[in-house]
Amino acid sequence: MSETFKAILVSRDAEKKQSVAVTDLTEADLMEGDITVAVEATTVNYKDGLAITGKAPVIRRWPLVPGVDFAGTVTSSSHADWRKGDKVILNGWGVGETHFGAYAGRARVKGDWLVPLPDGMSPHDAMAVGTAGYTAMLCVIALERHGIVPDRGPVVVTGAAGGVGSVAVSILSSLGYHVIASTGRNAESPYLIELGAAEVISRDELAQPAKPLAKERWAGGVDAVGSHTLANVLSMTSYGGAVAACGLAGGMDLPASVAPFILRGVSLLGIDSVMAPKAVRMEAWRRIGTDLDHQKLASLSTTIGFDDIIGAAHDIVEGKIRGRVVVDM
Ligand code: NDP
Repeated sequence: MSETFKAILVSRDAEKKQSVAVTDLTEADLMEGDITVAVEATTVNYKDGLAITGKAPVIRRWPLVPGVDFAGTVTSSSHADWRKGDKVILNGWGVGETHFGAYAGRARVKGDWLVPLPDGMSPHDAMAVGTAGYTAMLCVIALERHGIVPDRGPVVVTGAAGGVGSVAVSILSSLGYHVIASTGRNAESPYLIELGAAEVISRDELAQPAKPLAKERWAGGVDAVGSHTLANVLSMTSYGGAVAACGLAGGMDLPASVAPFILRGVSLLGIDSVMAPKAVRMEAWRRIGTDLDHQKLASLSTTIGFDDIIGAAHDIVEGKIRGRVVVDM
C-alpha cells in the first residue's frame, strides 16, 4: 500500500461554500509534475491566510492543497536539472492557488519552478524568509536599480511588523539605509528597532486620504499595504525617488494623484513574486544569502507545527502575526 501523509485540503460545495480539512493523501493523489519533494518546511504568508479563510479568491482549483512555498528534498525526478536528494525551494508559479501546494508531506511540481537551497541555509531558514522575505528582497533590488542608495535619504517600510515588512526593515538596515518603519502596532516598536529601524511611525500618519503632494520625507519605500497608505507614501517621496509596491494588506485600491509622478519624477515600481523569471529568483535568493543577517532572521521568525497552520492562517489575515511564521513539517 502507498505511504500516506497528512495534508490540508480546501474544498467547496455546490453552493460554493468553502471548507478546510486535514486529511491523509498518497503520492497518487498529487497533481502532475516531473519532481516529487518531501516538504520539510513551509510557512504561512498573507496569501495563504486569504486562501484558507476564503477572504479572497486565491484558490482557483477545487479541491486544493494550499501553501504557496516550501523547502525540502527531492525524492524523485525526471527533470534534467534535479536529482533525488537535492535540496530545493519553491515559491509562486500558482502553487497553492491552481496547483497542489505546500501544506502536505509531499509535493509534486515542475522542476522548472524550483531553485536550489542556497549554501549555508537550512529548509527552516529558507522558510523563515519565505515568499514574503523573497518579495522584500525583490523590492530592495528594484529600489537599488532605480538608484535609491543609502546616501539618497531615508526609506519607509509600511506594514513593517508583518512578514514582508520585517524582512525589508532587516535587509535595508543591514545595507546601511536609514529605515523609517510604519506600523499599526506601537507595541512592536522595540522589535522594529531591534531589526534595524532608525525611526518608527504610526500607521495612522499614512492612513488618511492623501494630498496630491506633501512634505518630502523619504527617497523611497517598500509598501506592503496599498490604498491610502501607498498614496501617502508616494506623495511624501522626494524628487526622483521610487516606491516598490508589493502588497494590499490595507486595500487593493490606489486613491492617489499623478502629482508625485509628473511634478517630482517619482516612480512606482511594481513587484510580483509569483511569476518572476528564474534568473530574478536566483539573484534574490543569492542576495538573501549575503544581505540578510542570520541573527535578525531568527529574531523575526517563530516556529509552529503542521497542526497550527489553520490557526495561523486566521491570525495573519487579522494582522496578528509578527514577522514570519515557519512551519516545521
Ligand atoms: P503580513 O500579514 O505578515 O503583513 C502585513 C502587514 O500589513 C501587517 O502585519 C500590518 O503591519 C499591516 N496591515 C495589515 N492590515 C492593515 C490595514 N488594514 N491597514 C494598514 N496596514 C495593515 O503579510 P505579508 O507580509 O505576508 O504580506 C504583505 C502583503 O504583501 C500582502 O498584501 C501580501 O498579499 C503581499 N505580498 C505580495 C507578493 C507579491 O508577489 N507582490 C508576495 C508576498 C506578499 P503593522 O501591524 O506593522 O501595521
